[in-house]
Amino acid sequence: MYCQKCGHENSDRALQCAACGEILVPVTKPPMDTLPPAAPYAPARTHVVGPPNHLVWAILVTLFCCLPGGIVAIVYAAQVDSKFMAGDVAGAQYASDQAKLWSWISAGSILVIAAGYFLLVMAAVISGGSQ
Ligand SMILES: [Zn+2]
Repeated sequence: MYCQKCGHENSDRALQCAACGEILVPVTKPPMDTLPPAAPYAPARTHVVGPPNHLVWAILVTLFCCLPGGIVAIVYAAQVDSKFMAGDVAGAQYASDQAKLWSWISAGSILVIAAGYFLLVMAAVISGGSQ
């Protein structure tokens, strides 16, 4: 460690400076006044683009498939921009994630329903053909 008084480099286990005799105090962290002040996070809203609101996907899945999941997606999508403009970046990101999630859930349920319908038709065809 370096002597705080004269700057002489001493052994890490040295208790006293070999050059000037100063008592060496291990420094575990820098003094508070040397740390730069934490700059408050202030996004420049005219230049920063918020999280994607996934509104298009939310509307599409609502129109073409599952109204309940699509409505949830639209509700979250509508919150993204308003929250971001209000400075709630974390809330906007959360709403964005939820909008995407519910869009995927809705889109996924289309496939499940379609597959179920297909199996139902196949079962009807098979059972009908065996009679
Ligand atoms: Zn010294």
